[in-house]
Amino acid sequence: MTTPTVLPTPGRRIARALTLRCPECGASGLFRHWLQLRPRCMRCALRLDRGKPDHFVGAYLVNLILAELLFAGGLGVWLVAVWPAVPWDEIQYVAVAAMLLSPLVTYPFTRTMWLAADLIFDPPKASDR
Ligand SMILES: [Zn+2]
Repeated sequence: MTTPTVLPTPGRRIARALTLRCPECGASGLFRHWLQLRPRCMRCALRLDRGKPDHFVGAYLVNLILAELLFAGGLGVWLVAVWPAVPWDEIQYVAVAAMLLSPLVTYPFTRTMWLAADLIFDPPKASDR
C-alpha cells in the first residue's frame, strides 16, 4: 500500500476521475469490469465507497443528470441540423437506444467523479483505508 504524502489538488482529483483513475493516488484498475467498482484502490487502499453503503446514490444522481443532458443536447443539435424536415421515426428509435445506453456508458465516469467530489469536500481519513 502506498499512501500519497501530499493531497492532490481538486483539479488533479477531477482529471484522474475523468480517466477512471483513483482520485487520491492516480492508480488505474479501479473497476473489476465496466459496471463494478472494486472495494478498494489497489495502490493506496482507499475505500472506494468511503465506508458508506449509500455512497453510490450520489453517483447515480450524477449519472442520471449527465445522461439526460447528453440526450437533450444531442436531440437539440439533431433537430436544429435537420429542421424543418425532422425524421421523427428515426428520432424515436435513436432516442430510446440513447436513453438506454448513455447511463451505461457514463456510469464508471460518474462513479469516479462522485468519489473525487467527495474527496475534495471530505478529504480522506485514516478510516478510509
Ligand atoms: Zn488510490
